[in-house]
Amino acid sequence: FKINGSPIISTQKRVVGAALTIRDMTAMRRLEKMRTEFVANVSHELRTPLTSIRGFVETLLEGAMEDPQLCRRFLSIINKEARRLQQLIDDLLTLSRLESGGIERSRGMTVFKPVLDGVLATVEHLAAEKGIILETAIAEDIPPLAMGENYLSQVLLNLIDNAIKYTPAGGRVTVRAAKEEDGIRVEVEDTGIGIPAESLPRVFERFYRVDKARSREMGGTGLGLAIVKHIVEVHGGRVGVESRPGQGSRFFFIVPAAEEGKN
Ligand code: ADP
Repeated sequence: FKINGSPIISTQKRVVGAALTIRDMTAMRRLEKMRTEFVANVSHELRTPLTSIRGFVETLLEGAMEDPQLCRRFLSIINKEARRLQQLIDDLLTLSRLESGGIERSRGMTVFKPVLDGVLATVEHLAAEKGIILETAIAEDIPPLAMGENYLSQVLLNLIDNAIKYTPAGGRVTVRAAKEEDGIRVEVEDTGIGIPAESLPRVFERFYRVDKARSREMGGTGLGLAIVKHIVEVHGGRVGVESRPGQGSRFFFIVPAAEEGKN
């Protein structure tokens, strides 16, 4: 708490009382702490790939370049790290756009199936490379979602991409969608590594990862699920996850149906 006091002075210039203002600083301090942590996280996340890129470039310049095989290997690492930097910056921009509220005016009316098909087309090869079966179970009668097409696409991409990333070869990823009382429920279920119970409440936090090294290795930024939650909530929906370590995870989100004539 922050307490300020000032005397109350009468017209005869006599102190007749005192006014106290008490301000609850805990909320402000918490916000400030979150901001500081976020900046520290961002800096760390940006520095890690940069350090690696610099290291490999220096090694190449110091002579490794003479060995074509080594050269190729280092360049491909540099390429991968540069991609991760790019992804990180893209994700940060998405988050900051979501937070500045520009999305409020862009409520959409999006038909689910074509957007899902578009996303599946971009991840099919990732699943195929790992021998993962991608399947869908989409109800026929789902109404358009109250969400812009690009946002729906991003949410689906993040969830399906994760499901493929965290599922070992030979697994299965299933996307389901059906109408429910309070909106359209979409599920992305996998038969992957799962998430320990104590991590479940935290996976939607920015930069939280169950296994940092593994996430990085997979090219993850730790921001994917934070973006998913943000997009869904801005559209009046909610997200959730159930999981059993070693058996798989089921992420879901519920988004209201678009009201006819509103858009
Ligand atoms: P990342 O870029 O690390 O994948 P996300 O925000 O997308 O970041 O996910 C946060 C963390 O949640 C991941 O690092 C991973 O530990 C866990 N996670 C997300 N999706 C899954 C999944 N389908 N199966 C198991 N773990 C998952």
